[in-house]
Amino acid sequence: MRSDDSPSRRTIGRLAPSPTGGLHLGHARTFLIAWLVARSERGRMILRIEDLDSTRVRDEARRGILDDLRWLGLDWDEGPDIGGDQGPYVQSERLERYAAALDRLRADERVYPCTCTRAEIARAASAPHPEDEGPSYPGTCSGRSAGEARLLGDRSFAWRFRVPEGLLAWDDAVLGPSSGHPRQIGGDFLVARNGVGPSYQLAVVVDDAAMGINQVIRGDDLATSTPRQLLLYQSLGLQPPDFGHVPLAVDPGGRRLAKRDESLKLGALRELGVDPRGLVGALIQTCGWSDGAQPAWPREWIGRVDLVRLRRQPWVVTPEWIEALPHGRP
Ligand code: GLU
Repeated sequence: MRSDDSPSRRTIGRLAPSPTGGLHLGHARTFLIAWLVARSERGRMILRIEDLDSTRVRDEARRGILDDLRWLGLDWDEGPDIGGDQGPYVQSERLERYAAALDRLRADERVYPCTCTRAEIARAASAPHPEDEGPSYPGTCSGRSAGEARLLGDRSFAWRFRVPEGLLAWDDAVLGPSSGHPRQIGGDFLVARNGVGPSYQLAVVVDDAAMGINQVIRGDDLATSTPRQLLLYQSLGLQPPDFGHVPLAVDPGGRRLAKRDESLKLGALRELGVDPRGLVGALIQTCGWSDGAQPAWPREWIGRVDLVRLRRQPWVVTPEWIEALPHGRP
C-alpha cells in the first residue's frame, strides 16, 4: 500500500489503543489487520497508548491492553513495555511535544482562542466517532487572533484550528480515492485546551510523525478525522502517512460495538477459555482472507493477506459467532 516504493522506505505501522475499558472483538480485528499488513511488508510495529482522555482512562485497562494483544499473538518492536528510540510510548508522557506543536500553530496564526461550548471542549481528547460530530462550529470566536489569548485573563479557553476552504484528498488503501471537506465536517476544530492538554487530533499527528509512522490502518469511523489530520500535517510541515480505513465491527442491529458490552471483550473470552488461535483463524475468515476458520497464530498469516481482498462490508458480530469459537489451550 505504499505511495513511495523506494527500497529505502521501510513500513512502520502502529497500534494505538486507548485504555478506556478493555479491547473488544472489533479492536482485535482492526489491530490484527494493521499488524498483518505491516508485517507482510516486513515492517516495524509500534505500540502507543493513547491515554489523554484522563477522565476515562483506567489503569487496569492500560495493563489489560498489553495482555490482550499478547494473548492474541501480536507483538511490537517499540512500546511502553520495551522502550525504543522514539519513546515514551504513552501519550500522557509526551505533553511537551504537543505543546511545542501548538506553539508553532500559534506563531503561524493557524489557531485562535475559543471560549465556547464546554461539553465539546471536554470531549476533544478522544477520537471523535461520526455520530458525535454534531454541527460545524459556527466560527463564533474566529475573529480573535492567537495573540488575543492574553486578554482572556482567567477565563478558560481552548485553541481552535482555523480551517481553510477546500477539499483534502488522500488515496486510502482500503476506501480508494477519498476526500473530505473539513469546513463542512466539524469546521474549525479543537487542538488543545489551554493549560490542560492537546486534543486527539493534534496528539495523533504529532506522535505519528515523530515516531516515523508511515502506515496508519485503523477503523473507518476515523476516516472523517483524516482531512483534519492532513491539515495539521500541512501546517506543521510534516509528511503524512499512508492511511487505510477498515470496515468496523457492528452488532446485529448495525450499531458500532459498545465498549461496555463485556461479552465482546478479549479479557472475557480469555477467561472463558477461548483458544486465541481459534479466534485469530475466525477473524481472518471474517476479513475474506480464508474460506474456513483454521486456528492459527497471526505470524502464520504473514505474507498471505492484502487489503485489496479485505471484505468491504462491516463485520456483524453475532452471539452465535462468539459461541462457535473453539476453546482450549493453544
Ligand atoms: N486511540 C484511538 C482510538 O482508540 C485511535 C486513534 C487512531 O488510530 O488514530 O479510538
